[in-house]
Amino acid sequence: MNRRDFSRSVLLMGMGAATGTGAEAAAPQGELYEEPPRKLPVRQFDVVIAGAGTGGVVAALAAARQGARTALVEAKGYPGGTVTEGGTALHSFYNLWKAFPGVAKRQVVRGIPQEIVERLVKVGGCSGHAEMFEGYDYDSVCTCIDTELYKLTAFEMLVESDVRVFVNTLLTGAIVNGPRLRGVIVESRSGREAFSAKCFVDCTAYGDLAAYAGAKFTEPNDYDVCNSVGIGNVDIDKYYAFLKSHGAAGQLARGLRSGRPDQIVRAGAESVNVPGMAEAARALGMGMITTTVHDNYLMFIKCNLRMPVSPTNRDEVVKAELEIRRRLARAVELFRQYVPGCEKAFMARTSPHLCIRRGRLIECDYDITLSDVLEARHFDDEVMVYGFHDSAPRYQVRNGGTYGLPYRALRVDGLENLLAAGMMITSNRDAHMSTRNTVCCMGQGQGAGTAAALCAARNCGTRDLEYAALRDALVKAGVYFEG
Ligand SMILES: Cc1cc2nc3c(=O)[nH]c(=O)nc-3n(C[C@H](O)[C@H](O)[C@H](O)COP(=O)(O)OP(=O)(O)OC[C@H]3O[C@@H](n4cnc5c(N)ncnc54)[C@H](O)[C@@H]3O)c2cc1C
Repeated sequence: MNRRDFSRSVLLMGMGAATGTGAEAAAPQGELYEEPPRKLPVRQFDVVIAGAGTGGVVAALAAARQGARTALVEAKGYPGGTVTEGGTALHSFYNLWKAFPGVAKRQVVRGIPQEIVERLVKVGGCSGHAEMFEGYDYDSVCTCIDTELYKLTAFEMLVESDVRVFVNTLLTGAIVNGPRLRGVIVESRSGREAFSAKCFVDCTAYGDLAAYAGAKFTEPNDYDVCNSVGIGNVDIDKYYAFLKSHGAAGQLARGLRSGRPDQIVRAGAESVNVPGMAEAARALGMGMITTTVHDNYLMFIKCNLRMPVSPTNRDEVVKAELEIRRRLARAVELFRQYVPGCEKAFMARTSPHLCIRRGRLIECDYDITLSDVLEARHFDDEVMVYGFHDSAPRYQVRNGGTYGLPYRALRVDGLENLLAAGMMITSNRDAHMSTRNTVCCMGQGQGAGTAAALCAARNCGTRDLEYAALRDALVKAGVYFEG
């Protein structure tokens, strides 16, 4: 359609019909354009995973390895998501053993997430599970990654496992028939298509697929948004010594760095009392904890911003993107100005867009509570166990133990073949401070991907899947359970 035709259509057509893409909710008041109906090519899969991020990569690997024809739809040009863009380390594969003398050290998340770590170590892209020597009432280990090698490693693993990876492809809608999701609409430079499948997993962080499919959700807007800058030409040993000399060192982990063991790979504190730097850092919403797996690189320094509305509001996000980029540049200036060894620091990379801690919260059959987490509660349908809380030492799982994540917490309420995994589940903010962390999202991904493949193979809804079969498949794939 040329510009004249477009204008004519706008003038001739009346109010647009709801499309099920969510676009109508964001439309400005006034003139509307009604899209003409069109026929789309349909591609058939057993399982579609929306979002190749922290949870989605693992979900797709898990589904494909169960034999499901699996499509993975990702808006960006690479898999990885927030684990490669926001955070500084993977928390946490272990229980909090160091904070509880006498409690045995045990690796509580294994399976595919551990396999990714092993692949990364082999290519020099991971610190290994580096032990914390300061701040170990927060976490006992810290697993730092090279975020670029993570993207490549994840991509290679997906291809090796026969996942059909559709990067640079945006999921824009859902095809729903009552409580059943029939397919998704995707858009790329190859055009607009429909992907149909028997079972679906939403791993988009924002809950896009669930929202398009009509699931119930809320948008609490109760976290800062953030971008993270990787700083080059720096010296983490000098950074740590500098913080220490100001009584400001709070965390320290030692592990593999530039191929050498027992190096500082994590250092810093939530806030520092360095005169001049402290107030400036506060004004930027700048965190002072950093990690690295390379001698001359800090990964990352974060700048946070509180938005007035939920980060699903595009126009407010535009303002936030600009403001955070200004803050990142100023943060690197602070390093140059104040931190010995960082006089020639520069911005080596930033995330492609701001990162969120949560956007939409999708209603599922079960909502994990803070007491589930803190009381180390276990369930008769759990898909993983987990022992980390991001607000530790204020909140810790009882006795350095674990709680279970039940399968029912991944089943999207009201839809019979849609699961959700990652930061979009768990409404209680303090419980979410545990379930949203990378390693938990990865474990949920393995649970959801496995369940989706089993449902597709059995032609059954997510609520009809026999838990014993799911548990058996997870155990065979190396997932750890207590007892
Ligand atoms: C700034 C920040 C710092 C953090 N620090 C840490 C830390 O140090 N340690 C830790 O363990 N956790 C940390 N977290 C938490 C953790 O990183 C996230 O909660 C977790 O990575 C979220 O994983 P996810 O799978 O839910 O989403 P994501 O990893 O964000 O994956 C979502 C994917 O879906 C894609 N997508 C979204 N919508 C669409 C669509 N419509 N179509 C196609 N693709 C789509 C996205 O591009 C993305 O790749 C941090 C979070 C933030 C924001």
